[in-house]
Amino acid sequence: MADDSAPLVCRNIHKSFGDTPVLQGLDLEARKGDVVSMIGSSGSGKSTFLRCLNLLETPTSGEVIVHGEPIQFRQNRKGVRVPADQGQVERIRARLSMVFQNFNLWSHMTVLENIIEAPVHVLKVPKKEAIERAEAYLDKVGIRERKDYYPAQISGGQQQRAAIARALAMEPEVMLFDEPTSALDPELVGDVLRVMQKLAEEGRTMIVVTHEMAFARDVCSQVMFLHQGRIEEQGSPEQVFNNPSSERVKQFLAPNF
Ligand code: ADP
Ligand code: MG
Repeated sequence: MADDSAPLVCRNIHKSFGDTPVLQGLDLEARKGDVVSMIGSSGSGKSTFLRCLNLLETPTSGEVIVHGEPIQFRQNRKGVRVPADQGQVERIRARLSMVFQNFNLWSHMTVLENIIEAPVHVLKVPKKEAIERAEAYLDKVGIRERKDYYPAQISGGQQQRAAIARALAMEPEVMLFDEPTSALDPELVGDVLRVMQKLAEEGRTMIVVTHEMAFARDVCSQVMFLHQGRIEEQGSPEQVFNNPSSERVKQFLAPNF
């Protein structure tokens, strides 16, 4: 029986674009402190699933429950399912903050300005307090000395660490990462993975789409392997990496280990 008070539960998520089914019945339960890695080949639906969790996409059917709060949907006049309550959408998005492959920092704002933007304007944190907190998060990700730089003036790895600090500044319930190291030069990947490992060790709840198999194996508590919008294999890293039951998963992992 799923624990509905867990930070994030979803049941039987389906998503179609037009007539094309992309997600076909996904379940997930992330308990407090869980780090769930989602792996699978390109096009298997990983990004769409993350986007359904924080309502950047609306699931065609299925439930999403954030810390016991079910997200409300309704049918619009065309019969399309949409979120019922825009206020709830804003709240849920603040509680499930997302880190994207391409950082998505505001290019016209400094690192510090990027980080305080949503806390000040969405959460209504007083600016002085938002700055103090932002500096603490910048310390945590190791780029405090870059706080007055613009994104174009720092490396990709520093930009991604700034994006992680920005996500942390929302003090989210769950952090969603969509291939956070895929756009980085290889020598910068380690810095970002180390920050993510530190967050995992602090007990943060995280869902991480990644191609970094060593990270999935060593840091995560659950691994989900997606294939054509379905869960092909799900379990502990030991199960999925050492003893997968699916031939497809074995083939996918073979080049890595
Ligand atoms: P992954 O992140 O695993 O590579 P995606 O979730 O990006 O996979 O994509 C899964 C499938 O859904 C792909 O076939 C993709 O073309 C399709 N898809 C994703 N977003 C859209 C969209 N907005 N409109 C139509 N098709 C989409
Ligand atoms: Mg993707």
